[in-house]
Amino acid sequence: MKRVRFRDPSGTVRSGTWLEEDGTPADTETAGTGGTIRFGARSYDPDAVDILAPCEPSKIVCVGLNYADHADEQDSEVPDRPLLFLKPPNTVASHHSNIRLPAGKERIDYEAELGVVVDSQCRNVDESDAMDIVAGYTCLVDLSNRDDQNREQNWVRGKAFDNAAPIGPVVASPEHVPDDAAVELRVNGELRQSSTREQLIFPISELIAEITTYLTLEPGDVIATGTPQGVGPLFDGDEVDVSIEGVGKLRHTVSIP
Ligand code: MG
Repeated sequence: MKRVRFRDPSGTVRSGTWLEEDGTPADTETAGTGGTIRFGARSYDPDAVDILAPCEPSKIVCVGLNYADHADEQDSEVPDRPLLFLKPPNTVASHHSNIRLPAGKERIDYEAELGVVVDSQCRNVDESDAMDIVAGYTCLVDLSNRDDQNREQNWVRGKAFDNAAPIGPVVASPEHVPDDAAVELRVNGELRQSSTREQLIFPISELIAEITTYLTLEPGDVIATGTPQGVGPLFDGDEVDVSIEGVGKLRHTVSIP
């Protein structure tokens, strides 16, 4: 199932499913770009509703340097345990957002990431049980203000500015997303990042066990699993697409005031 939250033409927020025209679950290309949205017996044209973020996280727990090729391009060592930081709820942005980036910065980067959406409240989860708390997967962009990230220990300015985490367009149930799912990012149609879920240094089950050693995860919380090689700067008017195999295609634009 591909779950989508949206505001219908009357203004009501609904939780529906994203389907192909024939009623089967939307494939990677369709979720976010076509098909139809179903709520109960009603069908909606995706272009006629506002697509909202597919979940409402109380926090996004982000993992840094979780792909060896990205650690290398950042001149960083691969850490011996997951590097964790938070993005608060103000960072959530939805499919088709135009995101105003902080003004006066030299470099704000895109980072394509696989987002793990939490199904049920949990703490101290054993690695062997970890996949039981996964509702599904979504696409996420970890927008990163390098000017300030490189000047501070706690990346509030660098990572937690408003709308610094576009997510969506759907939460795809785990069975849709293969272990080697492709993760790709394009800027203005040009491929910039291309990797797979199996390249993660710390796999999802290990991340869940480590994170819940320290904090409680709530339903709808998201774990951003890190970005592969190919991060780069964004410029005024850029259009960003993140495509994850089995999930869909998340699109947003940026403007720089
Ligand atoms: Mg990141």
